[in-house]
This record gives sequence, structure tokens and C-alpha cells, in this order.
Amino acid sequence: MIIWGSTGKEKRVEDVEFYCPKCREQADGVHIRVSRYFTLYFIPLFPLETLGEYVRCDECDGEFNMSVLDLTEDDVEAALTPWKCDECGNQNPAEYDQCLSCKEPRS
Ligand SMILES: [Zn+2]
Ligand SMILES: [Zn+2]
Repeated sequence: MIIWGSTGKEKRVEDVEFYCPKCREQADGVHIRVSRYFTLYFIPLFPLETLGEYVRCDECDGEFNMSVLDLTEDDVEAALTPWKCDECGNQNPAEYDQCLSCKEPRS
């Protein structure tokens, strides 16, 4: 009897350097590709399809979207730093474009 199937397997594609949003500093990481492999007798033989790709930080083990590689330190800090409303002075989370207190749009 031939036993075949498929399994997910992680592959280290390459080492990368990026600005880690969790460490808040330049960090070493690795580009991981997760592929579904065809298996025969439980031995992964070849990749069938790519399931996903991500970047894992060596320092904090955080896992990030590939787009993190395109971000500079300034981009990451801008995305993480709360902004202060000109109208009322309220501190708003970076992901909101409108003041949570007075509803003024971010200037
Ligand atoms: Zn990190
Ligand atoms: Zn406001």
C-alpha cells in the first residue's frame, strides 16, 4: 500500500534585516515561506503550493507581513505613534484618521 498525502512545511528563504515593529529597532530576521508539500510515506517530496510567506524576527519571535521589509524606521514609528488632535489635544491611536474625542479629521 502506498501512503501519500500532503503537509505544510516551513522553509527559510533568506536572512533579512528590517525594522521590527515589536522590538522598535533594527533587527535580524528570516523570510519564511510556508508551502504545502506532497508527501509519500510521510516524506515531503516537493512543494505543491505556497500557503503563505512572512518575516520572523530573531529577537522577539514576532511574525510580520512581508510588507514590513519595505518599511523604514520612520514608517514604522509613524504607524505606531499616537497622534495628537489639533482641536482638542486628544491622543489618538495611529490607525484612526479621525479624532476619537471630537471627530476632527487628522491634519
Ligand atoms: Zn523583533
Ligand atoms: Zn479632537
